[in-house]
Amino acid sequence: MFGKLKEKLASFTKSLDKTVEEKAVLPDEPETVFEEDDAAGTGADSGVLKDGIENESAADAAVIKDTAMAIDLKDPEKTPDAGAEPKPEKVGLFGKAKALIFDGEVILDDKDLEGPLEELEIALLESDLALSVTDTIVASVKEQLSGTRKRFGKKTSGIVEESLRNAILEVMSANVFDFDEFIAGHSGQTIHIAFVGINGTGKTTSIAKVANRLQKNGYSVVIAAGDTFRAGAIDQIQIHADRLGVKTIRHQEGSDPAAVIYDALQYAKARKVNVLLSDTAGRMHTNVNLMAQLEKICRVSAPDLIIFVDEATAGNDAVERASQFNAAVPISGTILTKLDADSKGGAAISIASITQKPILFFGIGQEYDDLLKFDPEWFVQKIFED
Ligand code: GDP
Ligand code: GDP
Repeated sequence: MFGKLKEKLASFTKSLDKTVEEKAVLPDEPETVFEEDDAAGTGADSGVLKDGIENESAADAAVIKDTAMAIDLKDPEKTPDAGAEPKPEKVGLFGKAKALIFDGEVILDDKDLEGPLEELEIALLESDLALSVTDTIVASVKEQLSGTRKRFGKKTSGIVEESLRNAILEVMSANVFDFDEFIAGHSGQTIHIAFVGINGTGKTTSIAKVANRLQKNGYSVVIAAGDTFRAGAIDQIQIHADRLGVKTIRHQEGSDPAAVIYDALQYAKARKVNVLLSDTAGRMHTNVNLMAQLEKICRVSAPDLIIFVDEATAGNDAVERASQFNAAVPISGTILTKLDADSKGGAAISIASITQKPILFFGIGQEYDDLLKFDPEWFVQKIFED
């Protein structure tokens, strides 16, 4: 998932690692003297400092072991496995001194960061992040890394990656909304949820997924076949509903969608159905008449939630459409579908920030269970996992 974004972000961390390594210069003469014995038994780098703290040899050894990891990161190919057997050969004085330098602190200034941050900006823009969100992330990474004293007793790439993770998490966590809590908090009344968005993005499938999820959580559901505009749309939603054993309220093709949804709401209320899910025509956001129709639906049977559905694969276009729909009818949040397809990930990072409305769910496949409640941690994990 997010192969391209992953690739680009890896290139940024590599570039910054290089800067860090270049800054960590060796002194002319190492001031510390080592004993060559392997007292602490930690393997290749377990020499004990002869500075009066031999009794803390275990702690020292741990530090030196850590620093040796930093050296190995100069050449990631050579990074030893955490659980690997210690190398039998002894590391010379030079190597140990170097290890200490790397365990010391490296201070990154703005100048060091300039090149890598430019690279990061391009990487994010190429991954379909909106410009303003890209700026926010780059500024956050800069703030986290610049002027900070860093101990490089661990992977340098870990530190750079951590700053990026934090920045992305911060942007994505800005507007969080708990769908389950909302539903639970409105029990005893029919909750009306309308779905809007353009054709082909996975709106119908997402309605079925939400219906399935609600049913599994013990709620009764009715679907309104409110897309009376597109040929076959009513049958399409009916097929999903039949599979799930959900009642559909439908009128003729071409009839007024506001009337279908109104009827469906009366039906659901009369039968004390927990949730009404209303499909709407997959209107083009630029079509003024269709947008006016959407406003009418919202006027006649005011939804408690209006969920905008779009596909992650559409990148910036999805973000742009979300803004335009939000201007016509106030959306409550977004379902971003097809995250499992070849999406660059940018839309998922940008959309909540640009619309100031939360992502509710990710669509991650074509099955009814392929609906993932929004979780920024999960998303960031996916970006950085190997
Ligand atoms: P609508 O026109 O917006 O109602 O779109 P549909 O619900 O008919 O979906 C269009 C196509 O996208 C269908 O083939 C769906 O199976 C597929 N689809 C929907 N959601 C997802 C998803 O999360 N992942 C993948 N891979 N495909 C999806
Ligand atoms: P059921 O399918 O056995 O539950 O039979 P119903 O009498 O409830 O529904 C038969 C048809 O009438 C279905 O196609 C529904 O779409 C439609 N229907 C049921 N109730 C309503 C309603 O309140 N309003 C509208 N417009 N249609 C309804």
